[in-house]
Amino acid sequence: MSRFWSAVVHGLTPYVPGEQPKLDNLVKLNTNEHPYGPSPKALEAIRAATGDSLRLYPDPNADALKAALAQRHGLQPQQIFVGNGSDEVLAHAFMALLKQDRPLRFPDISYSFYPVYCGLYDIPHRTIPLAEDFSIRVEDYLPQDGEQPGAIIFPNPNAPTGRLLPLEAVERIVAGNPDAVVLVDEAYVDFGGESAIGLIDKYPNLLVVHTFSKSRSLAGLRVGFAAGHADLIEALERVKNSFNSYPLDRLAIAGAVASVEDEAFFQASCRKVIATREKLIADMRALGFEVLPSAANFIFASHPQRDGAELTAELRKRAIIVRHFKAARIDQFMRITIGTDEQCDILVEALKDIL
Ligand code: PMP
Repeated sequence: MSRFWSAVVHGLTPYVPGEQPKLDNLVKLNTNEHPYGPSPKALEAIRAATGDSLRLYPDPNADALKAALAQRHGLQPQQIFVGNGSDEVLAHAFMALLKQDRPLRFPDISYSFYPVYCGLYDIPHRTIPLAEDFSIRVEDYLPQDGEQPGAIIFPNPNAPTGRLLPLEAVERIVAGNPDAVVLVDEAYVDFGGESAIGLIDKYPNLLVVHTFSKSRSLAGLRVGFAAGHADLIEALERVKNSFNSYPLDRLAIAGAVASVEDEAFFQASCRKVIATREKLIADMRALGFEVLPSAANFIFASHPQRDGAELTAELRKRAIIVRHFKAARIDQFMRITIGTDEQCDILVEALKDIL
């Protein structure tokens, strides 16, 4: 490594997303994209935005998108922050809100991006093991022995397990930590969870982050947002404005607004994924797999007699890509994105062949 690199860079182990292989003839079930594509109205709006107006800078406040999201979620526009994918929104939150003297807490087994940002911003943190059944235990996130806890972040549903924490349990964590920011990363909530956005007016310490990459099938557009008390949002805006005044380009704003306005398409396409998920879970259980309950657009499955890494490699030979994690406790599992019915049938047939 170059001696010109700073000590910070030397210490970084960046988050590496699942691979993006060429799509030809591949059944790609490794990065939790939505199989059916975005609302046609979003595509039309993006096309319409590719004219002369690209000469001009976009709206630095993305007011049209904040207004659409505020209306959709029953909030005020100043309670919404938008960014270039929820990873960027999360990055701003780590900088603005989660970096404190007291350790940030998150589950051990959750989104692998969190420790990366702790490394980048030198944020003290403490990971908290999941319960035996891979669920998040509310008690572990409540103050104990008069200790003043730091901020908390967790995905709900959790990733890569897919397990959902019921809304009343989320509320107990938020209400139990009135002096700490609680960030709920709801990247997958539209596939069967109940969003904590409805609690925002009650709890000034709650920040909820959403993405357009999963349920809105716009991963390539890079749009995410945070919803929370106007004071928290103001902190995020300050970081954003010190970093890049233009959070979203014109195409992203146009496509995202049209997606939010097409509620019927959104609901129908999420329902389709949920139905396919439940069928895939049943099919895989029939093959002897143990599959965790999932409220996401992926499932987390292991086979009592077969090694997870080997199964992943065997599927790959058959042009089916799923995700395997080498981490402790989950190295026997495969995380499988819910594709189309046809893709899931191809997967099930391949597993029958392999087992
Ligand atoms: N949160 C979680 C839990 C995720 O799994 C992902 C996707 N890898 C993200 C956030 C980020 O998604 P995006 O940046 O595409 O909005």
